[in-house]
Amino acid sequence: MTARRLLPYQWGWRCDQAVPHGFVRRRVVQTASSHSTSYGTTLHVTSTAYYHPVSLCPRCDEEITEEERARLEASAARWPWWWRLGLGTWMTLCLTLAHVPVLLSLAVAWALARLNILGRSVLAMWAVAVVTEALGWQPQRNPTQVLPVWGTITGALAVWKYRYTIMSWFGLRRKISENDAAGRPVITTNR
Ligand SMILES: [Zn+2]
Repeated sequence: MTARRLLPYQWGWRCDQAVPHGFVRRRVVQTASSHSTSYGTTLHVTSTAYYHPVSLCPRCDEEITEEERARLEASAARWPWWWRLGLGTWMTLCLTLAHVPVLLSLAVAWALARLNILGRSVLAMWAVAVVTEALGWQPQRNPTQVLPVWGTITGALAVWKYRYTIMSWFGLRRKISENDAAGRPVITTNR
């Protein structure tokens, strides 16, 4: 809208009210999201978030700040800290039992928690332990067989969750900038 650019004010993206130029706040917000389902050999559901810089009036800007804070708190509450601490401790103990140095075990548990895959990797460790024990390898006696299996599965989980971020490192998916904390691809464009 070229005519709008000549005016000494802009329209707020959210409330659609006129905001004088000096009071306009620019902010990158999620303007849309899309869900796509594809049926190939497996059912594949992708949820994508689209982010754009928009103009806001000061009041809407503050409201969005408040909403984002509430959303962050809600997502943190999904995995309470004591639950993470419990899983992290369990993970550290398991790795230590498998003869991994304590500090390295702690670092691995911390990294998995940071990547938001602690729960999944604990599940993977449990599954690997069950399977390898059935095959006659006790995890604490055969760490050289059990740990690489678990490491491969956990690595694959991390790669899968952050596949769009990793692809963007190699310039394979320029349009998608990265994954958000929920593992959802995020597209940011200028508009
Ligand atoms: Zn507004």
